[in-house]
Amino acid sequence: MPQVNIKLKAGSYPVVIAGRADNKFLSLLKAKAQNKQLFVFFDARFYVLHGKKIESLLKRNKFIIKSFLIPSGEKYKSASTLKTIYDFLLHNKISRDDFILACGGGVTTDLVGYAAASTLRGIPWAAVSTTLLGMVDAAIGGKTGINHASGKNLIGAFWQPSFVICNTQHLQTLPEREMIAGLGEVIKYGGLIGNKFINEIEKFLKDGDLYNTKVLEKLIKISVKYKGSIVSQDEREKNIRMFLNLGHTFGHAIEKTLGYGKLLHGEAIIIGLLAAVIFSRRVNKTAAKALAGYESLLKKCLRLLPYFLIKPAETVKNIQIDKKRSGQKLRFVLLKSPGKPFIASGLKPKLIIDSVKECLALYKAEGR
Ligand code: NAD
Repeated sequence: MPQVNIKLKAGSYPVVIAGRADNKFLSLLKAKAQNKQLFVFFDARFYVLHGKKIESLLKRNKFIIKSFLIPSGEKYKSASTLKTIYDFLLHNKISRDDFILACGGGVTTDLVGYAAASTLRGIPWAAVSTTLLGMVDAAIGGKTGINHASGKNLIGAFWQPSFVICNTQHLQTLPEREMIAGLGEVIKYGGLIGNKFINEIEKFLKDGDLYNTKVLEKLIKISVKYKGSIVSQDEREKNIRMFLNLGHTFGHAIEKTLGYGKLLHGEAIIIGLLAAVIFSRRVNKTAAKALAGYESLLKKCLRLLPYFLIKPAETVKNIQIDKKRSGQKLRFVLLKSPGKPFIASGLKPKLIIDSVKECLALYKAEGR
C-alpha cells in the first residue's frame, strides 16, 4: 500500500495514499483509539457523501464514537466554530487518553487539528484528508489553526497528527474547481522538484481525466514525499520550509485584492506561481530558458480558471502591506530553474510591478 513516512524529531508518522485503505485505516486507528472515546469530526458536505460509510465502518469495528459536523466553508475556520468544538469535547468529558479524528479538507483538518492541540494542552489526533489540496498540503506537516478578522491562519499551533489517510476514492465526489485548486499546489511542487515531475503533471492534464485515481495517487505520493522531506528538515518553518511558499506571496495578494470567496486559494496560487516564474526570469535573464517548460504549463493552467478583474497596482500594494504587517522584509521564493528554489530579497519595486502586470495580462487573455 503506498505510504509515505513523515520523519520528525519526536518519531515518524505514516501518510497512507490509496483507493482502498479501510484495513490500514482500521489498524492504525486500533493502535491509537481502541477502547477509548473517539471523537470524529466531519466536514458537513463530505459527511453527506461519505460520512455514514465511515461511521458504520467504525461502529462495526467496535469503536465508541461521538460525531460532530463542521459546516463547510472557509468562514467556519473561526474562533466561534472552535468554541462549539471545545464545548462538544468538554461536555463529553474528553481526556488526554482519548483520540480525535478529523475528516475533511484543509478547513476541517486545520480547525480540528488546532482544537486537538489546544484542548487539555494536546489530544492525539489523525486526519482523513478528503480534498486534493488537503492531501498534498494542508494535512501534511502539522500546521493547525484558525482565521482571525485581521487575516488568515493568524492563530494556530504546530501539532502533528498520528497518521493521515488520503483515500483517493473520496476525490471522485470533489467538484472540478476544487480539484483544479488542489492541482495548483501539486504544480507548485513541480516547480520545487523539477522537470520530471512537471512532465508528469503536464501529461496528466493532457490526458484530460482529472479524476484518474491511479495517476492521482502517484502525483499525491510524490507531493507528500517532497513536503515531508522539507518538514523533516525544518519542522517549525525557520528556513527551507519557506520554499513551500513558492507562488504564495503573489497568490495571497491576488486573493486579497479580489476579496476572499471568488478565486479558490489553489486557483490564486496557479496565478501566483506564474507571477513567481515571470519574476524569476526578469531577475535572472539566464533562467528564462530553463523555466520555459514550467511557464508554458502554468499558462495552460490559466485556461482552467474563471476570470475576475484583478488590478495590478492594488495587488502590488497588498504584497507590500502584507509583508510589512508580518514584520518581514520583501522576500520572495524564486526559481533558478525547476527544482532550484532560492529566497530573493532587496528587489527593485519596478520588477515586482512589471511581473505582476505581465502575469495578470496573461490571466486576462486566458482565463474563462
Ligand atoms: P475545504 O476544506 O474548504 O474543502 C473544499 C470544499 O470541498 C468544501 O466545500 C468541502 O465541503 C468540500 N469537500 C471536502 N471533501 C470533499 C469530497 N471528498 N467530496 C466533495 N466535496 C468535498 O478547502 P481545502 O481546499 O481542502 O483547504 C483549504 C484550507 O486549507 C484553507 O483554510 C487553507 O488555509 C488551509 N491550508 C492549510 C495548510 C497547512 O499547512 N495547515 C496548507 C495549505 C492550506
